[in-house]
Amino acid sequence: NVTGSARFAKLIEDDDYESALDVARQQVANGAQMIDVNMDEGMLDSEAAMTRFLSLIAAEPDIATVPIVIDSSKWSVIEAGLKCVQGKGVVNSISLKEGEEQFKRQAKLVRRYGAAVIVMAFDEEGQADTVDRKVEICTRAYHILTEEIGVPPEDIIFDPNIFAVATGIEEHNNYGRAYLQATERIKETLPHVRVSGGLSNLSFSFRGNNAVREAMHAVFLYHAVRVGMDMAIINAGALPVYDDIPDDVLTAIEDVLFNRRADATERLTSIATTVQGTVKKNEADLSWRERPVAERLTHALVEGIQEFVEADAEEARLQYEHAIEVIEGPLMDGMNVVGDLFGSGRMFLPQVVKSARVMKKAVMHLVPFIEAEKAAAGDVKANGRIVIATVKGDVHDIGKNIVAVVLRCNNYEVFDLGVMVPVQRILAAAREHDADIVGLSGLITPSLDEMVHVAKEMEREGFEIPLLIGGATTSKAHTAVKIDQHYHGPTIHVLDASRGVGVTSALLSDNRKESFVANVRTEYDEVRRTHAGRIRRTRTLTFAQARDRRFAIEWNGFQPATPKQPGIQTLTDYSIEELRTYIDWSPFFTAWELKGKFPAIFDDPVVGDEARSVYEDAQRLLDRIIAENLLTAEGVFGLFPANTVNVDDVAIYGDESRVETLATFRHLRQQMEKPPGRPNVSLADFVLPFERGPIDYVGAFAVTAGVGASELAAAFEADHDDYSSILVKAIADRLAEAFAERLHQRVRSEFWGYAPDEELIGTDLIRERYRGIRPAPGYPACPDHSQKFALFDLLGVTNHTSMSLTESGAMLPAASVSGWYFAHPDAYYFGLGNIGRDQVEAYASSKGIEIEQAERWLRPNLSYDPEEAAD
Ligand code: SAH
Repeated sequence: NVTGSARFAKLIEDDDYESALDVARQQVANGAQMIDVNMDEGMLDSEAAMTRFLSLIAAEPDIATVPIVIDSSKWSVIEAGLKCVQGKGVVNSISLKEGEEQFKRQAKLVRRYGAAVIVMAFDEEGQADTVDRKVEICTRAYHILTEEIGVPPEDIIFDPNIFAVATGIEEHNNYGRAYLQATERIKETLPHVRVSGGLSNLSFSFRGNNAVREAMHAVFLYHAVRVGMDMAIINAGALPVYDDIPDDVLTAIEDVLFNRRADATERLTSIATTVQGTVKKNEADLSWRERPVAERLTHALVEGIQEFVEADAEEARLQYEHAIEVIEGPLMDGMNVVGDLFGSGRMFLPQVVKSARVMKKAVMHLVPFIEAEKAAAGDVKANGRIVIATVKGDVHDIGKNIVAVVLRCNNYEVFDLGVMVPVQRILAAAREHDADIVGLSGLITPSLDEMVHVAKEMEREGFEIPLLIGGATTSKAHTAVKIDQHYHGPTIHVLDASRGVGVTSALLSDNRKESFVANVRTEYDEVRRTHAGRIRRTRTLTFAQARDRRFAIEWNGFQPATPKQPGIQTLTDYSIEELRTYIDWSPFFTAWELKGKFPAIFDDPVVGDEARSVYEDAQRLLDRIIAENLLTAEGVFGLFPANTVNVDDVAIYGDESRVETLATFRHLRQQMEKPPGRPNVSLADFVLPFERGPIDYVGAFAVTAGVGASELAAAFEADHDDYSSILVKAIADRLAEAFAERLHQRVRSEFWGYAPDEELIGTDLIRERYRGIRPAPGYPACPDHSQKFALFDLLGVTNHTSMSLTESGAMLPAASVSGWYFAHPDAYYFGLGNIGRDQVEAYASSKGIEIEQAERWLRPNLSYDPEEAAD
């Protein structure tokens, strides 16, 4: 399952079908009696992947002995699978969700292909969560299938929905019992059918604690099988034996599953902390404290243990003649071990940052003594001096801070100038500190131009030292094509934080520098050549043609949903505790350069332990943030009458009379050539055109969870704890995204109210499986960050909240999210791609700005080179 297993997803993505087959083989070897294959991933051609994988399985005798369960939420993928399986397959799944017609059509096809079918307890009104609804829907489906379509009842497998329990939400308490009771009744009243269920949902609220999750699954299975459950989708190797579960844990789990007492969730939660996974390091083992002090220091560094380091540093200092020797001796030895482990991929960023924290604590303890002995000891000799900064207009610094920490623990002296740093300050600092390297970081598009500007200034002022470029929007191509040419010193793109040290040490090494720089030059020449070729080959439609091929929604009969609570509303001091449950943790691990999806990442043989450890640190810090009120979340959103005018503009009106226009958002339109029948879409296409008559609606929002984050981070930094400082920022980012998700949910169900009964939780929410989208300026459908200026004006964001924008359109606090709401069921996320000069001209003139200015905001999406075009 590409969504459930990070490893499998990666193999498919890398086109390594051979190894992907091994995953299936392993499941069969572990006792799986069927294998469920799911290729539902946005980036995949799922039909093709399903066809290819199933065809390969057919040629593997040891896999092909078990039936295949073709799992997809897209019918076309299921049918692609049905065309490949030999013998009898199982379709997972169909339901009455889209009405009887669809259901019957699919059931007939399943029948024709000779497969059995899983039917979800899901109808036109949504997923069934009570016993009665579950039984009622399954009964209805049973009659249709057996009486109208002629499906043999033994080919029907019902899935009466296993939902998450112990979520803290009272209505969820009965979900476990509801499944069990429904199963019992279905098996009694609907002869010959089978009952199945996907188990992992059940324990969703204990993500991160696999021991408890697996115990819950085992207990649930035990009871479900007794009432008639026939099969379940589980990870075949990962179930404890019911009898091996300790009594107190068992009771607590059963209390939850049977909803036996009001405090069941609380009790299980508190017991859960005692049954953490076995992978946990033995923190109580203090035998290393017996070893000589130098070894203890090394051990503390490698393990990232801060507790004793000051006392050890002091003890060491008394043993050496000079305090500096403690740094040059045991501490550097320890850091070298860390460096080696990291370099060889046996240690990961969070660990390195934790080691750096220990180092810093020790060094801070020694500094006063070193100062006092300076004459005798001389300076600590660093490997080199580096000035780094997030460029003017940009506020993002998690990656940059990580680079700084990693460089420091490799004994480079780093002068971190912070965020929003103008070029003059960068160059002045480089001169003042006699820097060996300048490093620039940035996340948003305008920062690319700012980096070009810095390169030009370095050239003008006669610098020679290397210039490093890093951050999310930067790329090797942009560095080679746009920055390098303006500065004659080495200009090098650094892909991610963990490459920083390698590049730096090569650049500062007497014997490696020359060949390294020469290699980069050759490589960038090549990049420039291919880039020039690509520009020449890129063909775009004319803007007029693209408008003709817009995404045509069938507006006849469309009923715009009127917001229940129109106008602008402010949310102050929003509950962080509530937001916490909406966090999507996967991007958190990306920030730490740990590869994998939450929660599967914890089982990853390589990064699993470290992922768990940084996750647990985050949980502890979140507890503290909530208990001590350290972060504040606030936001503002509005729901407005609106129509599309002149094809590409979304006009926002003051009220239904449409007399006053509050704002007009011009949206960009795809202009690439596409196969026949594929639209050239713009966000404007999702809103009802004015000339059709009725009023439509759109929304806008801006939320932050970062109020207080920089103060808290600064407090940690003052305490020499960069690890916690970075952690705060990463958590604030997660909370801001969670806020966007939660507010969007409340808008759908409550404020706009077009989906009052939507009941998505967990991954379905994260995968945004709901009606409507919330595109954010700066993202692929609307890459122009300057749209945020109008968006903030419309909502009065700076009046209602403490959020603001920099001149480049970066939001402050950094942990903020803003965007629009589009509610049409057909609205979807897309990538703008390259656009032509004709559209940029029209865009500039509609916004009343110069074309050069528009080009600066849209740089990465231009299908032409503005410098050449202007000549
Ligand atoms: N769960 C994620 C959510 C952020 S990414 C997290 O916690 O980080 C998904 C969001 O990015 C969407 O809700 C939308 O606001 C934005 N987005 C994604 N793709 C987009 C696109 N193609 N165009 C515009 N916005 C997009």
